[in-house]
Amino acid sequence: MADANPLKISPDLLRDPGKRIKWVAAHGDAPVISASVPLNRYYRSLSEMHRMAGIHLAEKDGERAFILYLRFISMLLEGLPTHPDFKSYSSPEQKRVQERLRSAVDRAETLKKELKKRYEKESILYIAEEERRLAEQCERDRKMAEDMQLYEQGGPSASNSGGISSLVSPNAPPFPVSAPEVNTYGIGFPSLEPTPRVPEHTYDQPGQPHLNENVNRPVVDRSTKPRIVHDYGDVIPNLAANPHGFKPVIVAASLVDHFLSKAWPNTERGVETCAILCGKMANNRLIVSHAVIPKQNGGPDSCDTEHEEEVFEFQDKHDMITIGWIHTHPTQTAFLSSVDLHTHCSYQLMMPEAIAIVCSPKYEE
Ligand SMILES: [Zn+2]
Repeated sequence: MADANPLKISPDLLRDPGKRIKWVAAHGDAPVISASVPLNRYYRSLSEMHRMAGIHLAEKDGERAFILYLRFISMLLEGLPTHPDFKSYSSPEQKRVQERLRSAVDRAETLKKELKKRYEKESILYIAEEERRLAEQCERDRKMAEDMQLYEQGGPSASNSGGISSLVSPNAPPFPVSAPEVNTYGIGFPSLEPTPRVPEHTYDQPGQPHLNENVNRPVVDRSTKPRIVHDYGDVIPNLAANPHGFKPVIVAASLVDHFLSKAWPNTERGVETCAILCGKMANNRLIVSHAVIPKQNGGPDSCDTEHEEEVFEFQDKHDMITIGWIHTHPTQTAFLSSVDLHTHCSYQLMMPEAIAIVCSPKYEE
C-alpha cells in the first residue's frame, strides 16, 4: 500500500500544481483485494472510510478527505468486483455503501478543485521564494567576485594600503569559506522513521485515557534530523504536509484489563476472543474508548466474528468509529499471525493509524 512508505513532498511537486494533485490522488488508488478477507469487512471498511472522510472534511483537512473519497470510489468500482464472492454477495451494509457513491464522487470533485487552487497559490509563493533566494545568492557571488578582483589587483603590497587584505593575516585564505548548504529534499531518512509499533500493556492511571504517542506515530528525534535548506514553512502554511502523517492514538487505560476479564471464560477453555476497538477522533487524536465484543465463533488459533452489523449499529448509534481490533492468544505468545495481518490490512485501508492489540494471558504478554 502507498501508506507504508510515506513520501516526502519534493520541490518538483511544489512547483507544479498539476503534478502535485496527481501525486496526492495516487494515494487514493484501490488496494489489492484479498480473497481471505470477507466482503462484509470490506463493506464495513468502506462505510467507515466514508465517515472518516466526512470528519476530515469537517476538520478542514482537504487532502486526507480527498484521498479517502477517492479510495472509497476506486475500491467500490474497481477493487471489490475482483473479490471471488462479489457476484453472490448482498447485504444491507452493501446497499448503504452503494448509496454513498454519488456524494463521494461529488465531494471528491469539489475537493480536487479546491486543492488545485491551493496548490497553484502555494506554487506561486514557492517559485517567488526560490527566485528571491537565487537572486540573493547571485548577489553574494557577484560581491565575492568583486572582492576577489580587488584583492588580486592590490597584490601582496596591498597589505599596507589599508585595503581589504589588511583585514586578513598573510597566511589565512583570502576569503572566509562558508559551509556548503545541502538540499535534503527527496532524500529519505529511513532510520529516522521507525516502523509503527502496537502498544504494550503499560496502561497506568486506571480509568484514565493513556496517551501512547508511540502506538502508531513514528518517533523522530528532531535534534538529529538534517536541516532542510528550503524551509518555507513560514511562507506557505502546510507546505511539507504529508497526507499520511499519523495521528496519535490514545487507548483507555483500563480497556485491556476489562477485555481480558470478559474473555476469561474463553481463555480458560483455550479459545480465542476478539473485539472491535471503537472511539472518536478529537483534536486530531484518535481516542479508543470501547472494545465492543461481537458474536463470534472461536478456536485455539482463530476467531470469526458473526452478525457484525450489530456492532455497526451500536457504533452508529453512539457515533463511534473503528480504530482497530483486539484479540487473545490463549495458547500462544502475542504476535500477529499471517491471518491477523490480512485482517489488519482491512482496518488500515480506512485508517492508516488503525491498531491491533494481541494479548497472551498465558505468557503474560
Ligand atoms: Zn492472532
